Amino acid sequence: MGKEGPCYHCGIEQTPLWRNGPPEKPVLCNACGSRWRTRGTLNDYIPKHALKNVQDTQTDEDSDDHSGSSSTSTNGNTKKKLAR
Ligand SMILES: [Zn+2]
Repeated sequence: MGKEGPCYHCGIEQTPLWRNGPPEKPVLCNACGSRWRTRGTLNDYIPKHALKNVQDTQTDEDSDDHSGSSSTSTNGNTKKKLAR
């Protein structure tokens, strides 16, 4: 423990988990660290949370939290026609 931001790559100051990166960027946020581990490079990679800080664009795709709620019944039929 004791690792702290901001992320050397995207500059974010809050992340669920600080990760290790290359020597030039020893502290990475969760997103950048994951990218670094899987791809081995951070070139041209800017996580969505970093983009959101700069320009408040809509993030309709990949919004995995706080979407909808109140209908999480797992009763077989998962594909209902709700979205138009
Ligand atoms: Zn980052």
